Amino acid sequence: MSLETTLEDKIDFAARLIVDSRRLVVFTGAGISTESGLPDFRGPEGLWTKHGEPDFRRRRAEPERPSTPEDATDKARQVFIQESRWTGVQPNAAHYAIADLQKMGKLDFLISQNIDNLHLMSGISPDTISELHGNVAKAKCVQCAKYFDREEIRRKLLEDKTLVPSCDECGGAMKSSIVDFGDPMPFNETREAEIRSRNCDLLFVIGSTLLVTPAAYMPKYALESGAKLIILNMGETPFDRFALVRFDGKAGEIVPKIVERVKEILREGQRDE
Ligand code: NAD
Repeated sequence: MSLETTLEDKIDFAARLIVDSRRLVVFTGAGISTESGLPDFRGPEGLWTKHGEPDFRRRRAEPERPSTPEDATDKARQVFIQESRWTGVQPNAAHYAIADLQKMGKLDFLISQNIDNLHLMSGISPDTISELHGNVAKAKCVQCAKYFDREEIRRKLLEDKTLVPSCDECGGAMKSSIVDFGDPMPFNETREAEIRSRNCDLLFVIGSTLLVTPAAYMPKYALESGAKLIILNMGETPFDRFALVRFDGKAGEIVPKIVERVKEILREGQRDE
């Protein structure tokens, strides 16, 4: 788009791309949640921008070995009894606007790098999202990879002081579902995200530097399949030159305006029929 283009023109252009798309995939990063009060890593107020990037070559400290079977039970319980630090964080206008797109039948799939559970809290249907790096609200069986609601586990453990958290499907041990740097990616979620990205006709990136791989391969897969690209991010990304339209501004302000414009265009279309 030309340099003369106003924000309203760009919003209208992006909205028309969404209206015309048949398989829209939205891809979100930590930037969509900063307006909910969660700092990102590499943005202007990001944790790494302010405090430096951690050295991932250093070995992670080994967890303290349990000294007795009772100690092992206690440690396994403690992981899930602690209250989450993320309690009270709420989705913002950008999360709700994406959920609106889904209600309107305009969202095929959502891929998120975020672990904050805010997309599901905003009403996104669980079978239309891949959370590539896990979710603070979910535990996972180390054997069969079944997911469990952490709050539910916590409630059961508080009720029954002898209970050890384990999978009701296969008896495997439970762990947090969050993917740490160096951990393997969740197989099903990553595969589904790749398939959806390869099959979409429009990919809308919101709040990501597109630097963390393999998550950041999704725009590459979409472009390889001929999909169009919209990028909304405060700051540059390596994919900017491939985007048909790019917004450098706040997700919580711009995404709702785009979705509002989508609604208007769809209403205008209905009136003309
Ligand atoms: P990132 O920190 O690399 O990039 C975030 C980008 O969003 C930055 O360019 C920043 O300028 C931009 N941004 C910040 N606020 C914005 C806003 N209001 N509107 C639009 N853009 C905004 O994040 P990433 O690309 O997602 O990769 C970092 C990794 O960190 C991910 O793997 C993710 O799992 C993890 N992480 C997640 C959370 C979360 O769940 N909320 C928070 C921090 C980090």
